[in-house]
Amino acid sequence: MVYHQVCGYDDLMDCLFCAIVAGEIPSRQVYADDAAIAFLDINPFHPGHTLVIPRRHVQDLLADPVVLEEIAPAIEATAKLLVDKLGADGLNVMSSAGEVAGQEVMHLHVHLIPRSADKPGLRELLVREPVGDVDEVFARITAP
Ligand code: AMP
Ligand code: ZN
Repeated sequence: MVYHQVCGYDDLMDCLFCAIVAGEIPSRQVYADDAAIAFLDINPFHPGHTLVIPRRHVQDLLADPVVLEEIAPAIEATAKLLVDKLGADGLNVMSSAGEVAGQEVMHLHVHLIPRSADKPGLRELLVREPVGDVDEVFARITAP
């Protein structure tokens, strides 16, 4: 068991996203504040697909009454950043709670998925498209 000083979670090796917060696993980080970080999803549904996560370990939005409020500024700032830098026409915000809802990583994460007018609507949301070079998308988002 490893006690994790950043988030207090007592078994770091069990949580991929705690390891990303701690910088022990690399990520393409696009935003950070005291409560949250945001980084590009490794297997994006659409270009610029980003995850916003609390720094502290919380399993999902049902597990803690204030966590969404804590990370709301990060969600808003990252959503605006993605839309501005990528010239997106819109954006979906999504978070799954529980395996039955499709949650695979048991550390709360909010998906921000930029959308373009040529593939509109909810039906196209979870249809993975070729997303091109993730590093090129990362460079566009993080350009000054
Ligand atoms: P969910 O299915 O809602 O739990 O989403 C988990 C997301 O985490 C998926 O979209 C994965 O592609 C993403 N993911 C898994 N491992 C990593 C990683 N090392 N870096 C970035 N995103 C990841
Ligand atoms: Zn965690």
